[in-house]
Amino acid sequence: MKYVSTRGNAPELTFDDALLTGLARDGGLYLPKVWPQFSKADILAMQNMSYADVAIKVMSPFVAGSCIEQDDFEKIVRETYAVFDHDAVAPLKQLAPGQWVMELFHGPTLAFKDYALQLVGRLFDYVLTKRNEKVTIVGATSGDTGSAAIEACRDKDSIEIFILHPNGRVSDVQRRQMTTIMSANVHNVAIEGTFDDCQDMVKAMFNDEAYRDKLNLSAVNSINWARIMAQIVYYFYSAAQLGSPHRDVAFSVPTGNFGNVFAGYCAQQMGLPVSQFIVASNRNDILTRFLNHRGGNTPQVPVEPSHSPSMDIQVSSNFERLLYEFSGRDGAFIAEIMDEFRKKKAMFLDENQAGDMFEMFHGYSLSDKGTLEAISDYYKSTGELFDPHSVVGIRAAADWAGQDLPIVSLATAHPAKFPDAVKQASGVHPNLPPRLSDLLERKERYVEVPNDLDVVKLYVTDKIADRNNS
Ligand SMILES: *Cc1c(COP(=O)(O)O)cnc(C)c1O
Repeated sequence: MKYVSTRGNAPELTFDDALLTGLARDGGLYLPKVWPQFSKADILAMQNMSYADVAIKVMSPFVAGSCIEQDDFEKIVRETYAVFDHDAVAPLKQLAPGQWVMELFHGPTLAFKDYALQLVGRLFDYVLTKRNEKVTIVGATSGDTGSAAIEACRDKDSIEIFILHPNGRVSDVQRRQMTTIMSANVHNVAIEGTFDDCQDMVKAMFNDEAYRDKLNLSAVNSINWARIMAQIVYYFYSAAQLGSPHRDVAFSVPTGNFGNVFAGYCAQQMGLPVSQFIVASNRNDILTRFLNHRGGNTPQVPVEPSHSPSMDIQVSSNFERLLYEFSGRDGAFIAEIMDEFRKKKAMFLDENQAGDMFEMFHGYSLSDKGTLEAISDYYKSTGELFDPHSVVGIRAAADWAGQDLPIVSLATAHPAKFPDAVKQASGVHPNLPPRLSDLLERKERYVEVPNDLDVVKLYVTDKIADRNNS
């Protein structure tokens, strides 16, 4: 399998190179050159398979031709999903006739990002060890990504990981999921600034070529193809449980960077019969406006904070991959429109450039008030507590339901990750699972650093030097 850039002007890579590279040299995102195909019989066989077996089946064609041996890959996949807390890994729960919720919060940090990052961390370590290389991962987080990345990279000899978070601006649970990890290769840096300040610092470090090369900087952000690949698995797994390939399924996905819902599209391209995707947003609704106005000129407005912070995004980086697909994989066209989006600060697409995108993807958005009401309503009608991200997709699915097809809503975080909103809406304080019940008493370790790029850069180089000498 070879990987091509969405902007058509970067070298084709094998899986292992795409894994370590992340962003393509031409500014594009990597995608497989062809979609592996799964027949009806292949999907039928998945009805009785474990999550790990489906994962091996679905992902093996993407890894073929890389330095990762098939036997090793299978071992890594089995190890990865063995650490999840639920035997089904991604269990389905019924909410109403035809309406299902897939719980994607049974990983170490209680959010769906674990399903991909737990695998990606292991694959990084495998490939780097094989090549006798080391990397320094730097990332900025407003909450969920940092803890999932830290859990995925902790104790890996080939990786040092530095995660920047805005001091005092992430929830206690989110901060403690990062700062209580005592592994020697994990470094938490609290910046006296905002999330945007943290993100700007990370970008500046990557843009300093000498610094980047000296530390062999790398990222595990959501544009990494391997993360999308791992997310394809649970679409096959859940659809097979609900009777695929003999009946179509629809999915509703709470969306930020468009990575999770794009993985559903990939599953469909690989042969899974999916008839509808609902792209569910909070008050930051640029995707809803774009999809429901059929590509009409959609101005980008500043991001507003909401009850679902991991969806507070106005430029969904993975949307570029979808545009590439619907443009007939025309890299030059994508390079041109991405440049125009950036200059005009608006998203637009001529309807006849979009094929059937607007039939396949339906946009939905829910206000903060609607989010709290939905949490309260579901608690009353089903006894289930949902977090403020998941419930946006669940509400969207309920609005769409009744079309004679099962619809699966992806629950992307455990309610205990967002206790304040859940308590405000339902009156109930959601408890952490037993494994994390003492989280608020655990010892923390992090440094507080001023909002000064040079100080942060020096901190990273000093730490690396210390570690190399120890
Ligand atoms: C990251 C995240 C999302 C958004 O996922 P994308 O792949 O960026 O669309 C939704 N919910 C939660 C809880 C998240 O952590």
